[in-house]
Amino acid sequence: MKTLLTLVALLVAIVPALAGEADKRLDIYWIDTEGGAATLLVTPMGETVLIDAGNPGRRDLDRIVKTITEIAGRKQIDHLVTTHYHSDHFGGMLELSQAIPVKNLWDNGEFEGLKDHPGKAYFAMKAEQKHVVQPGDKIPLKQLPTGSPELSIRCLGARQQFVMAKEGTAENSSVCATARDKDRDGSDNANSVVLLITFGGFKFYDAGDLTWNMEKKLVCPQNLVGKVDVYQVTHHGLDASNNPLVLQTIEPRVAIMNNGTTKGCAPEVFANLQETKSLQGFYQIHKNLRPDGEKNNVAAEFIANQEKNCSGNHIQLSVAADTKSYTVAIPANKHEKTYATRD
Ligand SMILES: [Zn+2]
Repeated sequence: MKTLLTLVALLVAIVPALAGEADKRLDIYWIDTEGGAATLLVTPMGETVLIDAGNPGRRDLDRIVKTITEIAGRKQIDHLVTTHYHSDHFGGMLELSQAIPVKNLWDNGEFEGLKDHPGKAYFAMKAEQKHVVQPGDKIPLKQLPTGSPELSIRCLGARQQFVMAKEGTAENSSVCATARDKDRDGSDNANSVVLLITFGGFKFYDAGDLTWNMEKKLVCPQNLVGKVDVYQVTHHGLDASNNPLVLQTIEPRVAIMNNGTTKGCAPEVFANLQETKSLQGFYQIHKNLRPDGEKNNVAAEFIANQEKNCSGNHIQLSVAADTKSYTVAIPANKHEKTYATRD
C-alpha cells in the first residue's frame, strides 16, 4: 500500500510538469533555428500555435518537431503563422506540414506588390484551412472556463496596414518627437505580420522582421500596442529593425533575441536594449561570435547556445495560471528566473 501511495504521489508530482492538455499555463518556446525564427506557443487549453518555422533543411525541422512532440507533448499544429516570406521564417514549413498535421495556416496570402514570392510549393502546402490575416483579426483559440484569464492572439498589423487606435488614445508626442527614419524598407520584411499575444495581464509582442519605418507606425502618433511584458527582439536583432521608439513606448520587461552566431545582435540594437530602462531580463538564443561580441553579448547565463556547433538549445517561458508572473528558463544551463507581470 505504501509503495502504491508513493507511486501515486510521484505521478501527481510529475504530471503538472508535462505541458499536457489544459495545464492552465501559457508556454512559449523559442526554438533555435540559427538566425531564423520559430516561436511555439502551447496554450492553457493545450493548443499549439507556431509563429514561423525556421530555415529549409533537416536541422530546423527536426528541432521544431522535437519541441512540439517530445518537449511539449503535442501531436498537431493548430495554428501556423507565417510572418513574411523569407526563407529563415517559412523555409521549413512544407516539410513540417508533411511531418505534423497543420490545422490552420495564417499568412499574407498572395497580394499585390509581393516582392519576395515564397514559390508555388509554399502555397500548395497542406493545411485544413488557410486564412489571409488582416489587421484586427484574432486567431480563434479554445478558452479556459468562464472566470479564468482570457487568451488572445491579435494581429496588429500586416502588409504595412495597422489597426486603428482605440478611441481616446493619447498622442505619443514626446517619444515621437525623437523619430528618425531609415531608408531600408525594400523587402518583404516590411510586410511582416505583427502579433500581440495576451493571457490575462501578460502581454507578448512578436513582429517578425518588421522594419524600422513600419515599426514607427505602431507607436506614432499613437501607441497601438500598449505596454508589454515580453518583446521578441524584432528581425533577430538587426538594426534595420528595432526602432527605439517602440522600446521606449511599449516598455518591455523581458527581451528575447533569436539571433544566430554571426547574424543579428547588432551593436546599435544591443545598445538600445541595454538603455531600455524597463528591461529586467535580456536573453539571446546564441552568443554573438563576431569580433564585436566582446561588447555585445549578455552574461553567459542568459544565452542558450555558446558554441558555433551548438546543440540547438531553446529558451522557454511559462506564464502562471493566475497570469501574475512568468518564468523564463534555459533548460540546458539550468537558468530560471521569475518576473512579475505588468498588469
Ligand atoms: Zn528573419
